Amino acid sequence: NDEEASAKAAAAIADSGAPTIFDKIIAKEIPSTIVYEDEKVLAFRDINPQAPVHVLVIPKLRDGLTSLGKAESRHGEILGNLLYAAKLVAEKEGILDGFRVVINNGPTACQSVYHLHLHVLGGREMKWPPG
Ligand code: IMP
Repeated sequence: NDEEASAKAAAAIADSGAPTIFDKIIAKEIPSTIVYEDEKVLAFRDINPQAPVHVLVIPKLRDGLTSLGKAESRHGEILGNLLYAAKLVAEKEGILDGFRVVINNGPTACQSVYHLHLHVLGGREMKWPPG
């Protein structure tokens, strides 16, 4: 339908590698609540939380990773760093006993920002399967 077609068209433009709002968050041009930061990774609270803890973990350098579907072998190290940072966030937030890490890939999976990000969710009972 029309709505799907326009969502896909918008995603195609976003996926072209245009800057996203996360560039401004990394540059600290717009405020965010930072939970964890190191040289390569930034983790900050989602503006529209879907759980008591909802943190986004992103690479500071996008390096072509508009989405996970763009990953190449050379991205292995940063992908590992992101996953490890998700664990550090869960630890810091006190949810190591139960948390979920989600990556939405592409318009059909509701990806809205085309700079790779992991959602770290917890602080409530998580249902399976997710919607
Ligand atoms: P996606 O739908 O998987 O692409 O996730 C993008 C996430 O970014 C959504 O959960 C949004 O709520 C979140 N988001 C968008 N803009 C901002 C912002 O300025 N600060 C924090 N989170 C944001």
